[in-house]
Amino acid sequence: MTDVVKMVHGAGGQAMQQLIKNYILRHLAWGDVDVPLKMLDDSGVANGIILKSDSYTVKPLFFPGGDIGRLAVSGTVNDILMVGGKPLALALGLIIEEGFPFKDLDRILGSISNTAKEADVPVITGDTKVVERGALDKLVLNMSGIGVRHPKLDHNIEVIKNFRKDFSSKWLLDCNIKPGDKIILSGYIGDHTIALLSVREGVNFKVDVESDVAPLVEPMDRALSVGGVVAAKDPTRGGLANLLNEWAEKSNVGIKIYEERIPIRDSVRNACEYLGLDPLELGNEGKVVLAVIDELAEDVLKALRATELGKNAEIIGEATNEHNYVVMETVIGGLRVIPPPIGDPVPRIC
Ligand code: MG
Repeated sequence: MTDVVKMVHGAGGQAMQQLIKNYILRHLAWGDVDVPLKMLDDSGVANGIILKSDSYTVKPLFFPGGDIGRLAVSGTVNDILMVGGKPLALALGLIIEEGFPFKDLDRILGSISNTAKEADVPVITGDTKVVERGALDKLVLNMSGIGVRHPKLDHNIEVIKNFRKDFSSKWLLDCNIKPGDKIILSGYIGDHTIALLSVREGVNFKVDVESDVAPLVEPMDRALSVGGVVAAKDPTRGGLANLLNEWAEKSNVGIKIYEERIPIRDSVRNACEYLGLDPLELGNEGKVVLAVIDELAEDVLKALRATELGKNAEIIGEATNEHNYVVMETVIGGLRVIPPPIGDPVPRIC
C-alpha cells in the first residue's frame, strides 16, 4: 500500500476499484435514488433523470481518428446510452493552462460541436477556468450530461419479459445478467489505445490505426428496437477484461468468451505483441458490449451489423453458472482465466 495517490489509482483496474471503495464510496454511498452511486454503473439515475460526469485528460490532445473534444462528447454520451438512456444535453467544464494556443482551443471546440451534432445532443451550459503554467498539462475537460429513458427501453424490457418473467430491472444494469445470456461485442478492440500510443512522445513505433472514438447512438437505438438487451457497457479503461469481470462480479455469474471470435485487427495484435500489451486490457472509446437473452441474440447481432459502428459485431461468448469468474477458450482450445486488470497498462488514454 502507498499513502499517496499513484497513476495506477486512475487506471480503471483493481487499484482504482480500491480507491473508489475505500475513499469515495466510504463517504458518498448514500442517497435513495433509482440507480445510486454505490452501484458504480455507467451513469446514475435519480427521479428518472440520468446523470453522468466525466473528466478528460488524454495525452496527446490530438491523435489519429480524434481529439480530446470528440472523446469528451462521446464518453459522456455513451455512458448515458449504456444504462438505457437517451442523452438530452451536455455541460462543458474547460480548465485551461496559461499559454494554451487559441488555435488548438478553436479546433477542440469545433470538434466538440461536430460530435455533439452527430449525437444530436447540445451543450447547454458550462464553465471556464484558466490556471497558471505548471498547474496541469495544457488542458482538462469535464463533460457532464443528462438523459431520460430511451424511447425504445420499455419495448426492450417487454421483449425480455416474454422470456424471463422475473426480470424486474427498469434500466440496463451491470447486475442484470443471467446464465445463458449471450455477450455481443460491436467491433474491433484496442484501436483507440494503440492509435494514441503511436503518437506518444518517446514511443517509437508506427502503426496505421485510428481511434474508434464515436458516440454509440445508432447501435444502441437499433439494439433496443429489437429488444432483449439486459445490460450494455462500453469497454473503456481496463478494456474488455475489466468490463467482463465487473459484469461477472455484479451479476454473480461466470462469463466464457472465445478468443477466435474477438475482433482484433492484425495491426493492433502485432503492436500488442511488440509492446507486450494484452488487447483485452486496452481501452476503447467507440465500442459497446451487450448482454442479450439467448432467444434474441442473433437478431440483435444482425441489427448491430446493419450499422456503421457495429458492422464487425460478433457474439463473443455467454454467461454461465459453471463458475463465477471470466474465462477465455483460446484459439488452441485451452482455457485461460481472465482476471480484472491491475490497472490500464497505458495511462492517460481518456
Ligand atoms: Mg462506461
